[in-house]
Amino acid sequence: MENNLTIQWYPGHMTKTRRMMEKELSGIDAVIHLLDARIVQSSRNPDFEDLFAQKKRLFILNKSDLALPSVTQKWLAAYKAQGEKILSINCVTGEGLQTVLPAIRELLADKIERYRSRGISKTVRVMVTGIPNVGKSTFINRLAGRKVAAAQDRPGVTRAKQWVSLSQGVDLLDTPGMLWPKFEDARTGMFLAFTGAINDDILDKTELCLEFLRFMQKAYPQNLKERYKISEEIEDVSPLEAYDMICRKRGFLISGGEYDYERAAAVILDEFRAGKIGKISFEEPPNA
Ligand code: GDP
Repeated sequence: MENNLTIQWYPGHMTKTRRMMEKELSGIDAVIHLLDARIVQSSRNPDFEDLFAQKKRLFILNKSDLALPSVTQKWLAAYKAQGEKILSINCVTGEGLQTVLPAIRELLADKIERYRSRGISKTVRVMVTGIPNVGKSTFINRLAGRKVAAAQDRPGVTRAKQWVSLSQGVDLLDTPGMLWPKFEDARTGMFLAFTGAINDDILDKTELCLEFLRFMQKAYPQNLKERYKISEEIEDVSPLEAYDMICRKRGFLISGGEYDYERAAAVILDEFRAGKIGKISFEEPPNA
């Protein structure tokens, strides 16, 4: 995807979060990496490879309701082929959540059996990590069956770490959203921004919307046409022309007949994030 939009966002509180994670390492038995099913690759923090190299891990693809099921299946298969433990869930309906505790207990079966055979009543401790807005709080609240973690609609809102006890001897440690200092390519930054992992206040939303449309024209033109009731071919025009088509259809105009790009960008990105433009997967596993 050609583009001219480079996004970086690594605010100071993320450095603090990293330090907190390092400090907690010795007290945890495993890590849950909560990934966004739409951007499985781009939501996987490369810094966690080293940081958690010695820990058992479980990958969980959240927001599976917003991704294409066939692509999510490919990701699950690709990770499993590499020997990883992985499952997919949807925290809005709760789909798949019942598979999480059994997966944690299976991951830590040795430890749980050791505690049991020695008559030790100790819980296993699992850190939940993920990019901002991936659904960590919603996930923990649903698993706990009560509101224990503060869910935020905006990324980058700092919150303290906290332990939450589930049933069956499992404790979860909620952590603030983490990104990493330098995205490996421009696509990663954009996908993170499209899906809401980057604080919108630092983004030029019209630029972002143009890049979103560029991607959609190539990969999901039909979704754009259906959502915005466009009958012309949207695939072959420039992203700016596609933007104009949507502005015309939706009446995003300011006085003088000019297009209201800012308002259009806010609406288009909101509609995408709410799943109204359909199920969209931005990435497929390599060699899929
Ligand atoms: P956190 O920053 O990682 O703790 O994310 P939150 O738990 O605050 O969730 C961020 C936003 O994603 C909220 O608006 C949630 O309602 C929404 N969300 C969480 N899980 C899902 C899911 O599985 N599907 C959808 N569609 N939205 C979700």
